Amino acid sequence: MTKRLYYDQPALLEFDSVVEEVIAPTGEEARHSLTLRESAFYPTSGGQVHDTGWLMLDGDRVRVSEVAETEDGRVVHYLEPSALTRTAEGGHPYAGMAVHGSIDPERRRDHMQQHTGQHVLSAAFIELYQMPTVSFHMGDDYCSLDLATASLSPEQVVGAEKRSNEIIFEDRPVRIRYVSRAEAEKLGLRKLPPAERDELRLIEVADFDLSACGGTHVNATGQIGSVLLRKTEKTRQGIRVEFVCGGRAVRMARRDYGALTEAAALFSAQLWDVPNQIRKSFEDLKAARKEKEDALEQLAGAMAAAALKDAPEADGRRIIVRSFADHDTSFAKLFAQKATRMGVPAIALVASTMDPPGLVFAQSPGGTADMGALLKQVLSSVGGRGGGSRDFAQGGISAGCDAEQLLKQAAGTIGS
Ligand SMILES: [Zn+2]
Repeated sequence: MTKRLYYDQPALLEFDSVVEEVIAPTGEEARHSLTLRESAFYPTSGGQVHDTGWLMLDGDRVRVSEVAETEDGRVVHYLEPSALTRTAEGGHPYAGMAVHGSIDPERRRDHMQQHTGQHVLSAAFIELYQMPTVSFHMGDDYCSLDLATASLSPEQVVGAEKRSNEIIFEDRPVRIRYVSRAEAEKLGLRKLPPAERDELRLIEVADFDLSACGGTHVNATGQIGSVLLRKTEKTRQGIRVEFVCGGRAVRMARRDYGALTEAAALFSAQLWDVPNQIRKSFEDLKAARKEKEDALEQLAGAMAAAALKDAPEADGRRIIVRSFADHDTSFAKLFAQKATRMGVPAIALVASTMDPPGLVFAQSPGGTADMGALLKQVLSSVGGRGGGSRDFAQGGISAGCDAEQLLKQAAGTIGS
């Protein structure tokens, strides 16, 4: 097992050790990796993601890009392939070689802020609403925890955030201690680990939270900075709460502010007036859409009346043939319906050549032709799709089709 220096010295960012094993790349894993006698690098575990940093190996500064733990408790340091080439060529590294490790301080500080923030937030949800945390996830942008609860109100979100920030502002000490499992059971931990371990590492936020955890934490809650709760969503188990702490909270707020500022500028409005402006725009859009629909209906009616007047008559009905290049198929449909319902027996053979092009065939109710059959017949020659009833049929044609030719063909069929 690797001795884990971060257990007792979570602020330790530089350490000396000795290489224990060099693991050569395999088919599945292209990177070299190393285990050390002791390490301050945190491996991904318990919801917290791994550290990154550097190893000094006989004058070569090698990047550690990932750190994982094995089932038997060893910490594996994965080395960036490009960084290792030179070292490997020189016969390095080797077991027994002295090594100096450096942890990326910014990344570690960020993880400690998020992770300790999670302890405080989970405890606040218990204290205020008796909602236990069942899992924790740390991503690159935000963190989340899953609460075992059926519902969570916006007021409860604000309540837990407020209580957590109080604990942060009070700058309470965060202590590490070790107890036996039997002792731990008596202490009333927020969460007991499932593993059968004799000794448990406890993290205590003074007079607020006590839980077993192997992660890295700040040594006083003030270093968390602040906690900001964001999205909540239902999951199978309960409710997921997204949150960010410390530097991440500032970055997220900065990004939100940027987006909101851009939106406000589009409306020439104040930031807090943006939702109102959006609501107003939606209403305006809805009204404009309705006006457009009414205008199109009137236009279709007027065009249909004019077309009906000029249409030739055959077998006691007017035949209107019309192709629209600047109106879509739904307008063609409107036009055909209007033209065949003006009290004069009529057939309307209409096309739209706008993308996607289409055909609409309609006749006045009770007419003797069969629009569905006529459309099918015309479409069969060009492989289009569509159909309908005796009085109304509609279909689509491919962009390369000559719609006007198809209309002529249909008119010819009716006339014959
Ligand atoms: Zn922890």
